[in-house]
Amino acid sequence: MILFKRASELHRYIEEQHKNELQAGFVPTMGALHAGHLSLIERSISENDITICSIFVNPAQFNDPDDFKKYPVTTEKDIDALERSGCGILFLPPAEEIYPDETYKTETYNIGHLETILEGKFRPGHFQGVCMVVSRLLKIVSPDNLYLGQKDYQQCMVLQKLIELMGAEKRIKLKICPTLREPGGLAMSSRNMRLDQKERENAIAIYDSLMYIKNHISQKTIRDLKAETSEILTNKKFHIDYVEIADAISLEPVDTWDEKRKIVALIAAFMGKVRLIDNMMIQ
Ligand code: AMP
Repeated sequence: MILFKRASELHRYIEEQHKNELQAGFVPTMGALHAGHLSLIERSISENDITICSIFVNPAQFNDPDDFKKYPVTTEKDIDALERSGCGILFLPPAEEIYPDETYKTETYNIGHLETILEGKFRPGHFQGVCMVVSRLLKIVSPDNLYLGQKDYQQCMVLQKLIELMGAEKRIKLKICPTLREPGGLAMSSRNMRLDQKERENAIAIYDSLMYIKNHISQKTIRDLKAETSEILTNKKFHIDYVEIADAISLEPVDTWDEKRKIVALIAAFMGKVRLIDNMMIQ
């Protein structure tokens, strides 16, 4: 694996690969890699000539400074895991390489209603920060394929919109990969490392709630489903940001079940100080 820290050097290297008509797959991450991340890398390797993984804990996307400070960093382990996965290139930039000056703070991206619902509502500024970093990464890496996890459902929609805002929808194809889970169903997340044993056991309630919605969607009202799952979560000591059942394409909340409509259930909740999110396609 080749390690790049400088954006210009990586960009030049990938330009060379493009000249040789090699196809590039890109997996952006914030590190503390787990099997979920590695599944994206594997998929990229199987579909491209070269795979680039980036690790950058992006300060611009943390609306909570404490969450940023406590974000796990396991760089040596990550490098080992990437080497073993067969990933060709790791981009590990220092912050000044991504944000050489303060001008990024004045950028705005028009992502429409995604800015003010669900994650957008509960983490003000978060998606603007995601767009700031990903727009830079896409310019540096210029991939053919971008691999993202369905675990961050709304983020996938935001980044599809970003690709369109950049006028790059013909060049860059978004590939959304399934959520990898722990044996009990808890979605893998770098933040799980911050849970103690008891919290980890309780955290399975998110998956149980999503399954409950999926299994009862045709029998109960959406209102009752939301109330019942909120109770399941609260009983397991979660503080809920949202439990939502939404149209899978627009993310607009749905209030009655319609079997012809594709819908997704989404949950965000705090276990202690750790904020977890997850979602499931219901039909
Ligand atoms: P992160 O490092 O959390 O920013 O995640 C980097 C990428 O990995 C994002 O596209 C995530 O959606 C994806 N990802 C995170 N957790 C999982 C998971 N459990 N399964 C599949 N992909 C994931």
